[in-house]
Amino acid sequence: MKLKHLTLRGFKSFADRTRLDFSTGVNVVVGPNGSGKSNILDAIAWVMGTQGTKSLRTEKMDDVIFAGTATRPPLPRAEVSLTFANDDQIMPLNLAEITITRRLFRDGTSEYEMNGVPCRLLDIQELLSDGGIGKHQHVLVSQGEVGDVLNASPEGHRAVIEEAAGVTKYRSRRDRATRRLERTDHDVERLNDILAQQKRSMRPLKRQANAAGRHDSVRDEARALRIWLGVEELRGISSRSDSASIERGEVATTRDQADEELEGLRGRLVSLRAGAGTVGAALERDTAAAARLETTRERLRRIARLEGAEERREDLEIEQRQLEHDIETAAHDEESATDEAEHRATILADLEAEERSLTEQIQLPAESVAANLRGDLLALETAERRDRAERGQTSARIQVVDERTAEETAEIRRLDESMKATAAEVTSLHDVYTRKKDVRVEAEGAWRDADGDATEHRLTTAGALARVDALEAAFDGLVDEATQKIASQADGVIGAIVQRLEVPLELAAAVDGALGQWRDAFVVSDVSSLADAVELVKGSGSGGVAFVLTPGSAAPTAGETAATYGVDLLINLLGPSTDFDLAATMLGDVILVQGWKTGAQIVAASPQIRAVTPEGDVITRIGISVAQPDGAGPAAIEAARVPLEVAERNLARADSLATARKRTFDVASDAERESLEMLEACEARLAGSTEALGLVDRARAASLGERARLTQRLDAL
Ligand code: ATP
Repeated sequence: MKLKHLTLRGFKSFADRTRLDFSTGVNVVVGPNGSGKSNILDAIAWVMGTQGTKSLRTEKMDDVIFAGTATRPPLPRAEVSLTFANDDQIMPLNLAEITITRRLFRDGTSEYEMNGVPCRLLDIQELLSDGGIGKHQHVLVSQGEVGDVLNASPEGHRAVIEEAAGVTKYRSRRDRATRRLERTDHDVERLNDILAQQKRSMRPLKRQANAAGRHDSVRDEARALRIWLGVEELRGISSRSDSASIERGEVATTRDQADEELEGLRGRLVSLRAGAGTVGAALERDTAAAARLETTRERLRRIARLEGAEERREDLEIEQRQLEHDIETAAHDEESATDEAEHRATILADLEAEERSLTEQIQLPAESVAANLRGDLLALETAERRDRAERGQTSARIQVVDERTAEETAEIRRLDESMKATAAEVTSLHDVYTRKKDVRVEAEGAWRDADGDATEHRLTTAGALARVDALEAAFDGLVDEATQKIASQADGVIGAIVQRLEVPLELAAAVDGALGQWRDAFVVSDVSSLADAVELVKGSGSGGVAFVLTPGSAAPTAGETAATYGVDLLINLLGPSTDFDLAATMLGDVILVQGWKTGAQIVAASPQIRAVTPEGDVITRIGISVAQPDGAGPAAIEAARVPLEVAERNLARADSLATARKRTFDVASDAERESLEMLEACEARLAGSTEALGLVDRARAASLGERARLTQRLDAL
């Protein structure tokens, strides 16, 4: 497997589409410092899926996209394609050539392709890994890495050898498998927990099932007990019936006696009534006789003395009163006897009813009932013994359950209190975390702003530097630095000409063009100094340098022509710090035109002047000198250095601010992470307690349920 070619477009310094074909054997890329040799290596690493910005020597991933230069705007995307020859089929694809492509847009979107077909990063990584050039393997060795490998510890060497031998691929697969196994172990653990829980909840269910199983025998027992109770009741009724019979006999006797007495009383009443009637009649007779006697006595009083009749009457009256009293007593006695008789009759009726019901009950086949009852009694006695034993066991069990419930209640209370404390701790830790997070967010925002500023300044600086570099590179070779040094140090030399003119950036090319051969000349103060300087240069055996005198003679002027054609005189456009005398001498005859054609027309009409375009084209009566497209020249370089210096100053400031803010952010971030860890630990404790509480609570509910069932059973027993 070999690299065939690499195509870059918009990647780092390779703005234009650039294709590098690799021939068989060792390929060498040669170039001056900073020309982009390492960028080629970066491109290979990048297209192979590298995600670390450090190995790509950038801060952010989108730094790999061409950032622009002073003359060229930034590009929106970077794209690199790498083609491998796969004749030997090292990569497991039936293709002679495999091209992988990676694309990155400024909005962060990435695209990967394999032979032009969109794919995932993982596909590319796996393909390369299968081909033995995975991301961990030392296929790319950067500057300094060889030293790292040679100076590595034995462990480091082992890692290198393992990577080179392709063991890493299997090691990472093994790690993945181990992680999967760990996850499975965890799942099994969870399943065991659930199983244990299910087993725990099976115990009360089993007890319920046993209870249901015992239900039939207990129901039979209950039936037997009901029969036994019925028989007992029957026995009671029978004995009551016996005593009722005796009582009935007694009552019958009493009734007979009462009847007899009643009869006697009735007889006596009759006789008393008869007596009373007789006495009444006698009384009436006696009364009539008494009346008659009274009349007679009255009649005879005067005539006779009949005292004995009066006494006889008084006796009769007394007897009559006695008889009336006897009649009353007899009537009263009759009334009481009637009441008593009625009462006895009621009792008799009740007894007769009871006797009837007893007789009905006694109608049952007593023999078989008794036999059944004897059997039942035996069963009941056995059951009673069993029940007594069970009662003892149940009581003991209740005691155990009570003790356990008490322990569980205490545990619940303890857990509840500890949870309250932990919950309070969680709340306060959460507050702390929120505060730290806010601080971190603020610090991060500040840092990102500062970093954004720094990036912007970096881009500006890079742009300015790129322009200076490009100008210097273009200008390179025209100036011999050693001679420049000798010339600049000669007595009377007051500086390079471009340092004495303040040239706006956009006019740099025009001024360079207009200065022509004098553009890198040095200004000397007087004629003798000029001679000395020339002598010095020549004496040193060098040359290729120019000197100009500070103005003395009348400067040529193109002012009139400029006014005629409504164009600018070049010197009028220079900055205020310009040495205007010098400028007038050197450039007084120059007008600035916006196109060489205009310049050519004006110069044709006014041949004593010169015209320049902003690009640096110079038009004179002799001809037109067309400027380099990049306008390289000392003035352009000097002008380009000014924004570079400003940009570098700004960048240094922005960088130091960003570093300070980054430090603040790191501190805030650490504090946030620390408080989050504390919060999570506390929450985990709370969750543990909640789970434990749930378990104990369920256990207590089960205990209480068991106790209720046991109590019920005990009551039933
Ligand atoms: P050395 O020999 O010093 O290692 P080199 O030849 O390897 O140098 P590189 O480091 O590959 O050079 O290239 C650096 C150049 O790439 C710099 O000029 C830098 O401005 C340019 N560069 C890097 N990233 C970008 C970018 N995103 N856009 C434009 N130019 C970039």
